[in-house]
Amino acid sequence: DVVLSGGIDFNALLLSQPVLDGLAASGFKKPSPIQLKAIPLGRCGLDLIVQAKSGTGKTCVFSTIALDSLVMENTTTQVLVLAPTREIAVQIHSVVMAIGSAMEGLQCHVFIGGTPVSQDKISLKKCHIAVGSPGRIKQLIELGLLATASIRLFVLDEADKLLEEGSFQDQINWIFSSLPVNKQMLALSATYPESLAQHLAHYMREPTFVRLNPSDPGLIGLKQYYRLVRSHAMPHKVFEEKVLHLLELFSKVPFNQALVFSNLHTSLSQDQRMEAMSKLKQYQCRVLISTDLTSRGIDAEKVNLVINLDVPQDWETYMHRIGRAGRFGTHGLAVTYCCHGEEENKMMAIAQKCNLILCALPDPIEPGLM
Ligand code: ADP
Ligand code: MG
Repeated sequence: DVVLSGGIDFNALLLSQPVLDGLAASGFKKPSPIQLKAIPLGRCGLDLIVQAKSGTGKTCVFSTIALDSLVMENTTTQVLVLAPTREIAVQIHSVVMAIGSAMEGLQCHVFIGGTPVSQDKISLKKCHIAVGSPGRIKQLIELGLLATASIRLFVLDEADKLLEEGSFQDQINWIFSSLPVNKQMLALSATYPESLAQHLAHYMREPTFVRLNPSDPGLIGLKQYYRLVRSHAMPHKVFEEKVLHLLELFSKVPFNQALVFSNLHTSLSQDQRMEAMSKLKQYQCRVLISTDLTSRGIDAEKVNLVINLDVPQDWETYMHRIGRAGRFGTHGLAVTYCCHGEEENKMMAIAQKCNLILCALPDPIEPGLM
């Protein structure tokens, strides 16, 4: 296996037996390279900045560190995990519950906007690990419902997104200042922009960097293509043209499930979003069309085709989008449609920045592409 680390298995990491049992029950036999590096350092109590590409197993890194550090008898909140979207929070919860499946009485709950606070209040009566979105977590601390005095571990998943300009900075600053001074912090991210480094410097004391070198596998099984389409003065004509190309692709490649990203705006309610996501994960739908909401963190294991109907606004977004296919070293295909001219230049700039080997999609599309 290209992704898993040689002969070492989780038993070598000196984790507690219930955590080892939970990892085995989750089907995790050997740690991935980032897990092998980060978990022992995290269990030493160090503040960590963990940077590794999408699909390398970062959720298991902090879930394992968190679970292994719990004092089960104490049912007040000991670990707080923040995530930038509700969907990611829900997903983290299921990973924690899976790895914690052998820990009797484990209480982990999700706290996100769009659900009643009264329900949160009940969940918080016993809650070892709280996972949530910054807005709702701040609200619960303000209301005195989430007690912070016992929190010893603070996790920022998708830290680059959480601390991006204009997103959750103020809420996270507020939450941070309400936590005990003595705590461990973990920040996980696929990219590590300068702005993130500056923010984390305020929060962490001498953080240890854990990163994989760029030649490490991650998206190694993912083939990336672009296809140029004619540009039109009318945007809807461009869109139509791209959709025709897309339909051709769908008819030619034997994909399992596809995610189609478009910069177009959609307005779905929280329930509708959750439903769409769970249909995708339960394999009840084959194609999900999405804005960038799903481009980060979402792990739907059968997705092996990612389409960009428009070139994403920046290279980080590109990497996050395509990272939805080829999770954990599996095979996948990513195709970006771009118009001649401006969009084409944008795509080439992204390719250069990310060192991508980007080829034109063969025309006609060969069946053996995937
Ligand atoms: P990241 O947060 O780095 O993008 P995830 O934590 O979402 O990645 O993990 C990606 C996928 O890899 C998930 O489907 C997860 O179940 C799987 N995975 C993680 N660690 C292991 C492991 N040690 N063995 C097998 N599969 C794993
Ligand atoms: Mg993740």
